[in-house]
Amino acid sequence: MNLKDYGFPAQNYSIDTEGTYARVTAVHKGNYSLVTEYGECTAKLKSSVYFNNCTEEFPTTGDFVEIQYNTEGESLIIKTLKRKSKFARNDLSGHGSEYVKTIKEQTVAANFDYVFIMQSLNHDLNLKRLERYLTLSWQSGAVPVVVLTKSDLIEDYSAQLASVKQIAIGVDVHAISAKTGYGIDGLADYFKKGKTVVFLGSSGAGKSSLVNALAGQKVMSVKEIREDDSKGRHTTTHRQLIRLDSGVMVIDTPGMRELGMWNVSEGLRESFSDVKQFLGRCKFSDCKHQSEPGCAIKMAIEDGNLAYERWESYLTLKKEAAFVDDKATYLRSKDHQQITMKVWERQKSKETRRTNDDKH
Ligand code: GDP
Ligand code: ZN
Repeated sequence: MNLKDYGFPAQNYSIDTEGTYARVTAVHKGNYSLVTEYGECTAKLKSSVYFNNCTEEFPTTGDFVEIQYNTEGESLIIKTLKRKSKFARNDLSGHGSEYVKTIKEQTVAANFDYVFIMQSLNHDLNLKRLERYLTLSWQSGAVPVVVLTKSDLIEDYSAQLASVKQIAIGVDVHAISAKTGYGIDGLADYFKKGKTVVFLGSSGAGKSSLVNALAGQKVMSVKEIREDDSKGRHTTTHRQLIRLDSGVMVIDTPGMRELGMWNVSEGLRESFSDVKQFLGRCKFSDCKHQSEPGCAIKMAIEDGNLAYERWESYLTLKKEAAFVDDKATYLRSKDHQQITMKVWERQKSKETRRTNDDKH
C-alpha cells in the first residue's frame, strides 16, 4: 500500500526519518489504528516523546505520524507531522502527571481538504448553527461546503436555499438527496482521489447516507429515524477515517457538537466578511457601534447594506469566543498557581524531613 493513496503529501517524505510514515484512521482511548505502507496496524504513543515533557502534539484522526513499526505487534508513534488543517477544542482534562496539567487544545480531526457542513432541508435547518459551523470550518484551514440534505422531502426549498446562501458568503451551497441521488454529481469536484472530506452535522442529518451514496455501497450504517420527530438516532462513539474505493477519504465526526468557539478570530473574519467590511470605517476609532455619530455599522444596517441579524450573530460569536479564551487564560493561571503551591509544599516537607533527620 502506498501512503500517497491516503493523501500523504509527497513533500512530507524525508529521507532523514528514523521511522515509518502512517496515517491515523481512528483513536480509541490511548490506542491508535493506523495505515502504513505495510498495511493496517495498531500503535501506542511513545512515552518519552508524548508524556514526559509534553512537547509533541497528540495525534488524532487524520493525522500523519511517524512510527517505529513493529512487525510482531503494537507499533510506537514517535512524531506527529505538521497539519494543514484541524478541528480543535478546549481540553481541560490535562494529560500525564498533575504537574504537566495544562489547558491544551485537543485536536479532534486533522489534514482534511473540505468540510461538508450538513443540515437537512426539513426540520434540521438552523441558520445560527450554520454560522457557527462556518466560522469553525474557516478557522480549521480547510474549505467549507454547505450540503443541504433530504431535498426529496421538501417540494420547494428555494426560500431555504436563498437564506442559506445569504449567510454562507463565498461558500458553495448544494442541495442533495442521498435517497434519489439528486445533486450528488454536483459534489464530484470535491471528491477527488487523495482528498479528505470531513462531515460535520447533527446526528440524523444524513451523513452516513451520503457516504454510502458516494461509495455506491454500504460503508457506514444508517439507523432509520422517523422524520416527524427524529426518534431513533444512532450514536457512533468514535471518529473514523474511511477510504472509499474512489480514493477519497471521509472523516465522520460524531460529537462535533462539543466544538466550542475557541480561538476563532481567523474564522470569524472569513465567515463574517460582510460585517468585517464595515468595521474600522466608523468616524471614531474606538466606536462602540451604539449611538455614536458616523458609525459605519449603524449606517450599513439603516441603509440595508448589512442585515441586523448578521451583526447580532457576529457579536454573539465574538463574545462567546472571547469568554472562552478568557476562561482558558483564567484557568491556566489558576492551574499554575496550584502547581506552584504543590511544588512549594513538597519543598517544605522535604526541608522538614531534612531538619528532622539532622536532629537524629
Ligand atoms: P447521520 O446520523 O447524519 O449519519 O444520518 P443517517 O445517514 O444515518 O440518516 C438519518 C436518517 O435520515 C435515516 O433515516 C436516513 O434514511 C434518512 N435520510 C438520509 N438521507 C436521506 C435523504 O436524502 N432523503 C430521505 N428522505 N431520507 C434520508
Ligand atoms: Zn461604529
